[in-house]
Amino acid sequence: MFSSVRIRLTLWYTLSMTIVLVALAAGIYFVLGQNVIRRADANAIELADSFLSTVKAELSDATNPAGVSDGIAAAISEHRFRDVSFVVYDANGNLLGASEGYSEPEEFSSPSREMLASSLRPLASSSETFRSLHLSRHQYRSYVRHFLVKQQPATLIVLQSLRRQREFLATLVDTFWIVIPLAILFAGAGGYLLARRSLAPVVAMSSQASRMGAENLYQRLKVENPRDELGHLAGSFNELLDRLSQSFERQRRFVADASHELRTPVAILCGEAEVALAQQQRTPREYRESLEILRQEAKRLKHIVEDLFTLARADAGQYPLALTDFYLDELVEECSRNVRTLAAARKIALTCEAQTELPIRADESLLRRMLLNLLDNAIKYTPEGGSISLRCSEEDGQYRLTVQDSGPGIAAELQGRIFERFFRADKARSRSYNNGSGGAGLGLAIGLWIAEAHGGRLELTSSSPQGSVFTAVLPKSAL
Ligand code: ADP
Repeated sequence: MFSSVRIRLTLWYTLSMTIVLVALAAGIYFVLGQNVIRRADANAIELADSFLSTVKAELSDATNPAGVSDGIAAAISEHRFRDVSFVVYDANGNLLGASEGYSEPEEFSSPSREMLASSLRPLASSSETFRSLHLSRHQYRSYVRHFLVKQQPATLIVLQSLRRQREFLATLVDTFWIVIPLAILFAGAGGYLLARRSLAPVVAMSSQASRMGAENLYQRLKVENPRDELGHLAGSFNELLDRLSQSFERQRRFVADASHELRTPVAILCGEAEVALAQQQRTPREYRESLEILRQEAKRLKHIVEDLFTLARADAGQYPLALTDFYLDELVEECSRNVRTLAAARKIALTCEAQTELPIRADESLLRRMLLNLLDNAIKYTPEGGSISLRCSEEDGQYRLTVQDSGPGIAAELQGRIFERFFRADKARSRSYNNGSGGAGLGLAIGLWIAEAHGGRLELTSSSPQGSVFTAVLPKSAL
C-alpha cells in the first residue's frame, strides 16, 4: 500500500496538516489562557482601587466617620460580586473583614468566610502580588495589595474565581476535538483526490509507454500541458523515442543494405562455381578464369565484411584507437607510393606534396585506411589520363590532408549523401570498376568516422565536372 506514490503523498500531506492544526490549536489555547489571566489581573487591580476608595471614603466621612472594621465591612457590602471575594488582614494577620460565602450559581459554591480567612492568610505575608491557586476544587486568581488604614498597615486580597474563563477554555478544547479531526479527514480526502488528479497523467503515460515496443516506436506520449513538469517529462520521453526510432531505423537500413550488398558477391560465387562444375570438359585456362572470378568476388566479399565489422564496432564504441607518435608526411608519402602502380595502370598522374616534419599522435593504421579510401576513390572515379594530387600541410595548428582529382565530380544534389553508409552515386559504375571489385559505399562513411574519432573532420570541399576535392582536418594529437 505504501508503495503507491498517491498514498504516500496523501499520508505526508495529512501528517503535515495534523502537525500544523495541532500546533495552531495549542498556540491559540496558550495565548487565550494567558489573556484570561492578564484580564483577570487588570480587573483585580481596578476592583482593589475601587474597594480601597470606598474604605477611605467611609473612614473620612465628615458627618459620621466609621471605625476601621466598619469601613471595611461597608466596602465589602458595596462590592458584592458573584465571582469575587475581598479579604482584609491587619499587619499581624488578624482578619479585619471578608466577603461572605455565597452559593450562586448552584454548581459554584464560593468558599465560606472562615475558609477564605484561613486559606488566604499566608498570602498576606507573601511577597507575590498575583498568584493562581485552587480552593475547594476550583481555580482562583489572587491579588495582594498592601495599604495604610489610619496609619496602620493592612493587606487587601482580591480573590477572583476563574471558573467562567476555564469553562470557556474547556469549550474551546472540546471544539478543537471535533474540528481538528474533521479538518484532518477533509484534508486527507482532498489530498488523496489532488494526488490522484496530479498523478493521473503519469499513470496514463506509463500505460501508453508499456504498450510501446520496437514495432510501434513511432507512437508518442500525449502531452497535455507542455509547460508543466509532467509535460516536460513526456516531451523528454518523446524526444528519447525520436532518437531511438531514428537509431532503430538506421540499424534496420544498415542490416538491409548489408545483406543486399553481401547477396550479390555470394550469388556470383555460387553461380560461377556451379557453371564451372556443370561443364564436364573444361580446359585448365577456363578453370583458371573461373577461379580468378571466384577470387575477385571473395576479395570483394572480404572487403565488405571487414568494413561492416569496423562500422559495427565503431557504433558499439568498441574500436579503441591505438595511438602512436609518427610523422604524417611519411604516412602520406607511403600511401602515395602504395597506389602509384594502380594509378599508373589507369594512366593517371599522381602527385604528392607533403610538408616535411609533421609529427602527429594518432592511430596510424586507421589514418592509412582513410587516406587509401580517399585515394582509391580518386583513382576509381577519375577517367584514364586524368590527374590526382595529394597534399598535406599544417594550418592553424591542425593538419590538412587534401585529395584532389580530375574526375567527373559528384552531382550537387548527391553531395550531401556521399558520407552515408552504402551510398553510391552510380552503383553500376562503382561496382564494374576494377573487374567488379568496386566498393559497397562504405569507404567514405568509414573515413568520416576515422576523422571524427580523432577529433577532426572529413569533408567534400568542392566537386564539379572538373573534379572533386576531399579534405581531412586532423588535430596534432587525437583527443
Ligand atoms: P564506394 O565504395 O562506392 O566508393 P564510398 O563511400 O567510398 O563508396 O563513396 C561513396 C560514393 O561517393 C561513391 O559511390 C561515389 O559515387 C562518390 N564518390 C566518392 N569519391 C568520389 C570521387 N573522388 N569522385 C567522384 N565520386 C566520388
